[in-house]
Amino acid sequence: MKRDKIRKKMSRIMKGRNTPWLKAEKNPNWKGGYEGYYGPNWLKKRREAREREDHTCRLCGKNVVELSREPSIHHLVPFRNFGIEKYREANKLKNLISLCRSCHKKVEINPEEYKAILEEKMKKDTI
Ligand SMILES: [Zn+2]
Repeated sequence: MKRDKIRKKMSRIMKGRNTPWLKAEKNPNWKGGYEGYYGPNWLKKRREAREREDHTCRLCGKNVVELSREPSIHHLVPFRNFGIEKYREANKLKNLISLCRSCHKKVEINPEEYKAILEEKMKKDTI
């Protein structure tokens, strides 16, 4: 009986959640969702990576002003390769590179083609 209660409660909570942001997720212009959860240090590391790169896309060189938003931070070795237990390794600055939305998309669609280019950039300019 107790378990039933919990289940009911859960479904009520989920139903409540359904309204505002699940709708946003279905919106094709909404791009926040695929990033998922990158561990407890992610926001800090993302900020550090953006600062290191001067808030500039490493592929096209546009900065935060030209982009009118912060560039995304891309994992060179995909986060899923590490998994959440190894988030510290995944979020190391040498694994992070900042890309604007449109470059990020290109890289996500064609990671193999960009892998070498991005690695080269990291070698050259990263302290
Ligand atoms: Zn770019």
